Amino acid sequence: MIRAFVKRARRVKGTSAAATQLLGYSNLTLFKNRDTYSVDEADAVDIFFELRGDIERLSLAQYFCEICCVFGTEGGEASEELRLVLNCLYMLARNRELSPTMIKAIFELRMAAIGGFMPELVECARCGNETENMYFSVTDGTLFCGECAGGIHMPVPAGVLAAMRHICYCDLKRIFSFSLPDEGMKMLSDITESYLLAQTDKEFTALKFYKSLFEI
Ligand SMILES: [Zn+2]
Repeated sequence: MIRAFVKRARRVKGTSAAATQLLGYSNLTLFKNRDTYSVDEADAVDIFFELRGDIERLSLAQYFCEICCVFGTEGGEASEELRLVLNCLYMLARNRELSPTMIKAIFELRMAAIGGFMPELVECARCGNETENMYFSVTDGTLFCGECAGGIHMPVPAGVLAAMRHICYCDLKRIFSFSLPDEGMKMLSDITESYLLAQTDKEFTALKFYKSLFEI
């Protein structure tokens, strides 16, 4: 990841000013001056224009970008993170059959997993068993069975656990290939969000805004 500044945005050479706008995926030519990069030329590849007409999807897209800033390391290679964010932005913008809640859960959990916080989802961390209802510790990233949970962790029904394993372990090409009933998807999203917040210990402005959309 590289942080680069756009100086005098209108004077950037390239196809259009949209290439350096928020959420734009563009090929950039950078100019380096000491430790600072600035954008010299920008060609837009995709600007996900459709997101602008839907405040729920737009706020999630901004939230995804905030998460990327937390996980990206300056100068570090980030091709897997880039593929994930582009896939999720594409689905948010152009696939109205997938719920925003599902795309949010996928992004939060897979990004945590590739960003160094892969949860341990194989078996109960204490006894190795698996019961009908398992429990997940968002602070430790570990599973517990009904016997060992002690009533303090988030409940994870079998379908939600299967979805979590799929998101963490599957090939990225298949990551959107699962389904859950609405109630299960909401539980999944609550778990992945709590896990991401616990692991990063950050506050995300766009997430707060997204959640405010559902407050009555
Ligand atoms: Zn156990």
